[in-house]
Amino acid sequence: IKASNSLSFSLQAKMSRPVRARRLEGIDKNIWVEFVKLAATYSKVNLGQGFPNFPAPDFLTEAFTRALSGGNHMLHQYTRAFGHPPLVKVLAQFFEKLLGRDLDPMTNVMVTVGAYQALFCCFQALVDEGDEVIIIEPFFDCYEPMVKMAGGTPVFVPLRPNPPKDGKLMSSADWQLDPAELASKFSKQTKAIVLNSPNNPLGKVFSHGELGLIAELCVKHDVLCISDEVYEWLVYDGKQHIRIASLQGMWDRTVIVGSAGKTFSATGWKVGWVVGPDRLLQHLRTVHQNSVYHCATIAQEAVAQGFQRELMLYGKPESYFVQLPKELQQKRDWLVQSLDSVGMKPIVPEGTYFLVADISQFKSDVPDVPNSDEPYDYRFAKWMVKNKGLAAIPLSAFYSEAHKKNYTNFIRLCFAKEEATLKAANDILQKWKQEKTSS
Ligand code: PMP
Repeated sequence: IKASNSLSFSLQAKMSRPVRARRLEGIDKNIWVEFVKLAATYSKVNLGQGFPNFPAPDFLTEAFTRALSGGNHMLHQYTRAFGHPPLVKVLAQFFEKLLGRDLDPMTNVMVTVGAYQALFCCFQALVDEGDEVIIIEPFFDCYEPMVKMAGGTPVFVPLRPNPPKDGKLMSSADWQLDPAELASKFSKQTKAIVLNSPNNPLGKVFSHGELGLIAELCVKHDVLCISDEVYEWLVYDGKQHIRIASLQGMWDRTVIVGSAGKTFSATGWKVGWVVGPDRLLQHLRTVHQNSVYHCATIAQEAVAQGFQRELMLYGKPESYFVQLPKELQQKRDWLVQSLDSVGMKPIVPEGTYFLVADISQFKSDVPDVPNSDEPYDYRFAKWMVKNKGLAAIPLSAFYSEAHKKNYTNFIRLCFAKEEATLKAANDILQKWKQEKTSS
C-alpha cells in the first residue's frame, strides 16, 4: 500500500505548469553553444571564439601567484562588494589620466565579473519595460537578449559598407552610420544607445566625427550611452581610441565598460569594470549587490598590480598597452595577407583582435542543403570546420533577426593567436586554394 501511494504521489508531483519565466521567451538560442561545440569537435585551427591562445604577460601571472601564496591569507576571503579597494583605486587613477577628470574610486568605479556582467548590470539598472535601446549593427550578440531581459526593446541601426572604388581592400572605416538613419531611431522612448568602439566583430574604431554625432543626439534626446570599450588598447596603424565620455555633455550620461580579459590577455579571469558618474553607478551597484556580490579577490588583486605597473609605464615602449597592439597588428597583417591570397577578401580592422572576411567567392565549395533556410555564412562556417578543420563565426550572428539576411556573405576570424596557429590557418587556406585550382 505504501509503495502504490508513493507512486501515485510521484505521478501527481510531475509538473505540468510552464516553468520558463516570460522574460526568457525568444532569447534561448545562442550562437556560442553550437559553434564552440563544433570547433571543439572538428577544428584543427580555431579562429572562432575571441580569446588569445598565447600566454598572459608574466608580470600578471606572477602577481596572481604572489596573491595566491604570498602570505596575505585575507586575499582568499570576501573583499569589498563593489570592487577590491586596491583595484578600484588604481582604476580610478588610470581613468583620471585617460578622461582628464577627478574620479572617486568608491563611487565612480565598480568591478564586475568580466565586462559581460558589467553590461548585464547596465541593462538591469537603467532599462525599464517599454524603453527603447539603440544598438549599432553588427553588434556583440549579448546586447539584444540583455535589453530584452530587462523588458526593453532593441532598435537596430546598421553600419553601412561603402566599398572603396580603387580596388583596395576594404577597411572597417568603410562601414559607417548614415547620420539621418541614426537620428531617425531616436524617439521619446529611447533610454540608451549601446556604443562599442573598437567594435566586435568589424574592428571599426569610431572617429571623432562619428562619436560627435552620437553624442549630439544623446544630449538632444536626453539619452544614456552604454559605452563598451573592452578593446580600448587594441587599436592599430596609429589610430586613436576616443572615449565618448570625454565629449561635451557625455560624462554625466555615459557608463564605460572595460575588461581585464581583453586588456591583459586573460579572458578566463573574468575581471571587468564600469567607470561613470555616481548617479548612474549607484543603480548598477544595486544590481551587482543583489546578484553576484563580487568577483574573485585574488584575480582582482593581480589585476590591480597589473594596472599599477601600467600606470608607471604609461605611454612608454615597455608598457603592455603599447606592446600588445604592436604584436597584434603584425598578426592582423599576416591573416589579412593570407586570406587575401586565397580570395577570401578581408575587411582590414582598425582595432580589436577580430577581422571579417568576404566569402562570396566560395559558394561553389559549399553544398546546398535542400529545404534548409540556414543562411550561407552559417552553412559555410559549419562546412569549413568539418571539411577543412578551420573554425570561424558567421557574421550574421551579429545581426538582428530582421537584418541577418542582408549580411550572409561574411565570417569573423580572431587573430589573437600564436604564430604557429596563424601559420597552420594559412597552410589550410593555401592547400584549399591548390585543390580548387587543380580541380
Ligand atoms: N564586450 C565585447 C564587445 C566583447 O567582445 C566581449 C567578449 N567577447 C565582452 C564585452 C565580454 O568581456 P568579458 O570577457 O570581460 O566578460
